[in-house]
Formats: sequence, C-alpha cells, structure tokens
Amino acid sequence: MTYQPDVTKYFALALDPIHVGTGDMHLGRVDMSIVREPGTNLPKIPGTSLAGACRTYAAMQEEGKFPRCAGQGQAKGNYEGHCGNYNCPICVTFGFSKGEGGSFQGLAQFSDARLVFFPVHSLAGPVWVTCPSVLRDLKVDENEPADGQVRVASGVKQSGRLNLGWLMLGLGNALSLDNDKFPGVPPEILNRAVLVSDKMFSHIVNDNLEVRTSVSIDPQTGAAADGALFTYEALPRGSVLVFEVVISDPKFYCISGKVPLSDKNCTQSSNQSIEERGPSNGKKQVKETVESGLRLFKTLGIGGMNTRGMGRLCVQKLNAGGGQ
Ligand SMILES: [Zn+2]
Repeated sequence: MTYQPDVTKYFALALDPIHVGTGDMHLGRVDMSIVREPGTNLPKIPGTSLAGACRTYAAMQEEGKFPRCAGQGQAKGNYEGHCGNYNCPICVTFGFSKGEGGSFQGLAQFSDARLVFFPVHSLAGPVWVTCPSVLRDLKVDENEPADGQVRVASGVKQSGRLNLGWLMLGLGNALSLDNDKFPGVPPEILNRAVLVSDKMFSHIVNDNLEVRTSVSIDPQTGAAADGALFTYEALPRGSVLVFEVVISDPKFYCISGKVPLSDKNCTQSSNQSIEERGPSNGKKQVKETVESGLRLFKTLGIGGMNTRGMGRLCVQKLNAGGGQ
C-alpha cells in the first residue's frame, strides 16, 4: 500500500478585520497583538485556531455532536468529553482526547494560514502587496524587484512611480500573475497586485495593520469599565491568506473509543480500512466535514472579538459538499 494523503490548498479572503491574538496583554505598540511568524515577523493565523473553529462549526451541523464533540475533549463536570467513536465524523476528522479512553490526532491536519496579498491604499487606489518568498511557497517564481522599485500588475494605474503612502517607489518589469495558480482569488486583486522585496513586504504589512481601540464592558453595570480602554491589532479587510489541509489516508489508522491506539489488538486484522468500518470516515467524508466547518467561517468568523464586526473569513473553492 502506498501512503497517499490528500492535500488541498485553500485561499481565504478577509471580509472583516481579523484578530487572532497571542492571548496575552503586553506593553508594546498595542495591548493585544496578533500572532506572527517568528522568522519573517509576518502575521499568520495558527493552524490550531483554524482547526478549532472548523471543528466547532462542523459539530454544530452534525446531529447530536454539539457541544460534546466540539470542545476540548476531556470530560469535566457535566461535560462528557469527546465521544471518540470510530464512526464519529467530528472525532475522526479533528481527533479526540479521552484520557484513559485513548486519543487520536485526527485525519485532517491544518497548516497555519499565511498572508499572500495585503491591501494597501496608494494614490493609485487600493493595491494588494505581495513578495517573492510568499509567491515561491505557491510555486510562483517572480524576481525580486531592484532596490527602491516595485513591480505592478496591469490594473494599477501609475505614471512611472507608485506612491504607497509614505513610500515613493520606481517601477520595475510589469507583473503578471496567472489566475490558475491562485484558485478563488478575485481577479481584481491579482490585477492590482504589487510585488515588493521580501524585506519591504514585512515593513509595509506591519506598518499598515489595523489598530483599533475598544473598551471593556463591566458585566455588572453594562457600562464601560473604568480605565479599560485597550488597543488591538487586526489584519485588514481584503487581506488574502492561504492554508493547507492534509487529509491522511484512513487505511493506516485504527480508531476506536473502546480500544486505545496502543492496544495490540488494534493492528493488522482489526485495522481495516476505516471506510469499511464506518460510513463517515472515508477521505471524502473527512473532507466534506472539514469543508462544512470552513463554510461557516464567512458568517461566524474566526479569532477573537467576533461580536465586534470582526473575523469573517471567506474560504474559497469549497467543493466537497457541492456549491459554495
Ligand atoms: Zn465524537
């Protein structure tokens, strides 16, 4: 048997500002900062955040699975914990952790969502900035522009220079991005793409993140809590991100709530294809479950502060369940 995971790349468009925070308040430019990639300092959405929201939304749509199979797993008080059944579409897809009942990492693994196109206002109207290293990860090879230059796509009107707010840049070769390499990314964005150097990309992004101010509401009085003004960062509306979901072949796993995975009985003979053991566990079913969850990102949002008009993310090309 050959090992054949199914890898799907999803592009996603921010419909609102998105704040996926590091979870701690600290003294810096803002009180609540968003998660960043350590090497590049570029904002990202951790795969664990994507998987967590996706799990919850998928469970909401499965009869009898919410909240039991949506949460953290371990039984506590009235909460029974994950069901951990081999035929539970939620536990099989996203994994489960039942303490003594065994645990399973799940057939679907989410990568972090990385920024691909970042919207910036220029004197030529809105443009979407990107850079060679980001495109290289998508198997798109574009040369780094010369120092002090940018390369712009045909939809950006300019007169030999591009003014990105505080930055005045000369123009290098024209940029032309192939739509096929960016499935689901609106052509308006590709036509208004601007390629800058890797180093400049990080600067432009970090200088143009939204910073918002909010007040904490005192739950006792419903009024603003004293001195509770805080600021937080967010990826702006119109940002384009990409992430991958890898779906492992169920043939290689043994899943049972009764039998811990380490159990010796759980090999060879009992480790038949999950497809044969339960109707909900084929690769296709797992993908449908994932996409049912991702579909709700565009209405329910991800990250913190969803109630403040934040967090809606439209994941493109969700085909497994049919239709968008
Ligand atoms: Zn379950």
